[in-house]
Amino acid sequence: AIYKEQVEKHENCDNLSQYSGVMVFAEQRQGVIQNISFELLGEGRLLADKLGEELSAILIGTDIFGKVEDLFKYGADKVYLVEGVGFENYRTEPYCYAMEKIINEYKPEIVLIGATNIGRDLGPRIAGRVVTGLTADCIELGIDEDTKLLLQTRPAFGGNIMATILCPEHRPQMATIRPGVFKKNDPDSSKKGVLVRVHMSISDINVRTEVLETIKQGKIIDIQDAEIIVSGGRGVGSADNFNIIKNAAKELGGIFGASRAAVDAGWIDSNYQVGQTGKTVAPKIYIACGISGAIQHQAGISKSDIIIAINKNPNAAIFDIADYGICGDLFKILPILVEELNKV
Ligand code: FAD
Repeated sequence: AIYKEQVEKHENCDNLSQYSGVMVFAEQRQGVIQNISFELLGEGRLLADKLGEELSAILIGTDIFGKVEDLFKYGADKVYLVEGVGFENYRTEPYCYAMEKIINEYKPEIVLIGATNIGRDLGPRIAGRVVTGLTADCIELGIDEDTKLLLQTRPAFGGNIMATILCPEHRPQMATIRPGVFKKNDPDSSKKGVLVRVHMSISDINVRTEVLETIKQGKIIDIQDAEIIVSGGRGVGSADNFNIIKNAAKELGGIFGASRAAVDAGWIDSNYQVGQTGKTVAPKIYIACGISGAIQHQAGISKSDIIIAINKNPNAAIFDIADYGICGDLFKILPILVEELNKV
């Protein structure tokens, strides 16, 4: 019944030309804006410039006015700041309520949300409420030259193909985007923007959840922030052998990663898995050792600045996307490579 009501509401007012601009959901946790928000602003800026339209961010929370400047610095022309009691921690109902109201009122053409735990909860619900589509887990975005539609690319069929999805008949065009896929711009402190403050009350809605306590885990390893990653695959051979990868990463001041084969073999914790079902990374240097370069692995590394591959099979697919390929035994080559790189 709720869905039918929503559809009817939208059929009455669904004039696509009313929609304009790119809007980024600025995810914050405990008042800290998450990196994904800046990455989305970086990409959102490119999309907005191609359309000749505005880039906005929506920030929801309590006592977070001090964070608005950061969003301007990273490229937003406008920030919608939604504040009110009940928005301090992420909860599904209040955040959906706020997003739905802002989207219906300000009608963005495109809405971008991080494919984080929060974004994966929020994105589909908002799409349902505003009666539009959602392309989940995108790894590439673009604007079609002729139609000006958002090109939303994501892995499909178990990662065997990349599908580009369009949303021609509904607005906004909505996508969730994997963290680590896009680069954030360098912050520009001189950049100013327009602030729209919206006070909201959640007293009208039925909120079924309450945050009782927030427990901080120990240090969470995040290879997505690393500038240098040395990754090992099945070719490394064993958990003990993986020390060569770990040591190389340490010597280069980076972090180690792994293919799914190495994780499935139990050599490495899944927090370090790179690829479609692992992390998407975008380091300055990615060194793939004993990794064949399956499409699911490539999906996680294609945004790296430089890919160096060491593999003893000259026909390994990893060489197709590597900037530098070294054909040979990783146990001989990696120590030499580390030594040479450290001289640079
Ligand atoms: P292999 O493909 O076995 O390659 C090992 C390579 O090591 C070979 O190329 C070999 O020539 C080389 N080698 C062996 N010994 C040496 C040596 N001494 N020196 C140099 N080279 C050597 N995979 C991921 O990595 N990440 C994912 O997130 C992911 N998600 C997936 C999701 C789905 C739905 C599916 C179906 C698969 C997914 N996979 C993922 C698995 C993926 O398809 C591959 O099976 C996996 O990436 C293979 O890992 P690998 O390259 O380490 O192993």
